[in-house]
Amino acid sequence: MKIVRFRHEDEIGYGVLKGDEISLVDGNVFGVFHIGDRKLALDDVRLLAPCEPGKAVCIGLNYVDHAAELNMDLPAEPLMFLKPSTSVCGPGDTIVYPAMTENLHYEAELGIVIGKRCKAVSEEEAGECILGYTCANDVTARDLQARDGQWTRCKSFDTFLPIGPCIDTRFKPDSAPIRLTLNGEEKQSSDISNFIFKVPRLISFVSQVMTLLPGDVIITGTPPGIGPMERGDVVRVEIEGLGVLENVVG
Ligand code: MG
Repeated sequence: MKIVRFRHEDEIGYGVLKGDEISLVDGNVFGVFHIGDRKLALDDVRLLAPCEPGKAVCIGLNYVDHAAELNMDLPAEPLMFLKPSTSVCGPGDTIVYPAMTENLHYEAELGIVIGKRCKAVSEEEAGECILGYTCANDVTARDLQARDGQWTRCKSFDTFLPIGPCIDTRFKPDSAPIRLTLNGEEKQSSDISNFIFKVPRLISFVSQVMTLLPGDVIITGTPPGIGPMERGDVVRVEIEGLGVLENVVG
């Protein structure tokens, strides 16, 4: 099931996408809901970020091939940092190039959408905490990352976390091609089977530190090929099975 959040005229709602049609949902997609009779054409709505995370937990180096590219040893445990809720934007939204940076980078990532409150869960229990998966772009001001020595400023500007286009509840995060194109040119290409830390380990690890709540997102690290974006660029994150997340830099 592909869950989308949309705006249609003055209405914001959730629906289930099938082909070019959205069936509207009654109830709470993070709780009890059912698919109603009312339908809208995908062309008639504006897709929004598919959830409104209270927090986005981000994982640093997590691809074997990215570690090799950087000539780095594999980490012994996941490196985590946060992006604020206000960094989230949706498909088609403009990534705003801040005046404070001169080196704005893309990072294609798989996003995990948490479905229920979880704290200190085991890897075996982790699957029950997941609503589904989405595409994400961990936009980063690379010069500020080097200058500050910690990552709050460089990762946290408004619009620095595009997510979407949907939450896929059936996606299996064992293997899937992940790629990023900039103005149609491929810049990143890998497979999520190259994860150093798999999804159950990440959820268990993060939940030992902080309680995860419905709608929270964990983004899982980026493959090789990170690089700069300029104003006017069209950036697309594509994970096979999850669709395409496209944004313009402005
Ligand atoms: Mg990242």
